[in-house]
Amino acid sequence: MVNEDVPAKPLIIWLGTNTCAGDMLSLLNAKDPGYQELISSIAELRFDYLLGASEGSDAINVLDDLQKNHKAAYILVVEGSIPTRSNGLYSVIGYRNGKAWTALQAVRELGAEARYVVAAGTCAAFGGIYAAAPNPSKCVSLQAVLDRKVINVPGCPINPEWMMGTLNHLIQYGEPALDDYSRPKLFYGETIHNLCQRRDYFDNSIFAAKPGEPWCMYKIGCKGPVTYADCPVRQWNGEHLSWPVKANTPCIGCASPEFPDGDVPFFEHLPDIKLPGIKVTANRVGLLTGVVTALGIGAHLMGSILTGRLAETLKKDLPGGSKLKIRPRLKKGHK
Ligand code: SF4
Repeated sequence: MVNEDVPAKPLIIWLGTNTCAGDMLSLLNAKDPGYQELISSIAELRFDYLLGASEGSDAINVLDDLQKNHKAAYILVVEGSIPTRSNGLYSVIGYRNGKAWTALQAVRELGAEARYVVAAGTCAAFGGIYAAAPNPSKCVSLQAVLDRKVINVPGCPINPEWMMGTLNHLIQYGEPALDDYSRPKLFYGETIHNLCQRRDYFDNSIFAAKPGEPWCMYKIGCKGPVTYADCPVRQWNGEHLSWPVKANTPCIGCASPEFPDGDVPFFEHLPDIKLPGIKVTANRVGLLTGVVTALGIGAHLMGSILTGRLAETLKKDLPGGSKLKIRPRLKKGHK
């Protein structure tokens, strides 16, 4: 006899907060498995803010039911950053008991009862575009407003396979191995630079002078050396067709915690800096190889984007590096 109260498949809520909807739209490009398989055989997508058929009180009732009757049985996926100004009134999910139900309230209440919480896209994971200066609605990451673990799947937008892979891992095997920023190492375990098809050009000082040229994009602002994601090998457009550098434009670091404020100007070198006892500028990177190459990346790093893990990696490559004191720009948990 089938107990109709017990769902046969894992339940998923996909909630939209302050978002352009790009992550859900990107997910629709997933193949093998695709969106159709996700909602028909892998899981039960009970609430989808963008594609769901219900609206108004019907939609809110679905969320009510999940929160009250399916505790620890659903995965909450949140797409978008969370506005905190004016008690969150800059993003209202709907009306509950006659009152505006803000995204801030919704993610806290639904998040408290979820089995897993997943941040879809850089806005949810790290604040992203909506949290960029001057940040008038005081947007923050999902993690910043929740007192529990959030699995971050950043990207602007997400690669559909990053999200499909993460959801399938959660459903079949549980939590995947995560890095210091709570990103699945499966997809964010290596720098774009180390996977890039143009790495030989970098090592041999063959640089593009402007977008559109088929050489290494480092001198026109490529953030591949400091961005962790597998874009060069996974690629995009459903059939693994292309990615920014393959399309002759620099990586802008959209999967990084610092994006976008820490990555601008996108098409310019970030300021050169002086390392203790070493004179090196970013423009000289690639003139020499080996450790000096690493130094060039170090200069780029120290002048622009520093994270705890990157700093540790950098220190290993620098002469006397272990003595360098590098203060991480973002704290673990990025609250
Ligand atoms: S700097 Fe950018 S384009 Fe050049 S090798 Fe690294 S990731 Fe590729």
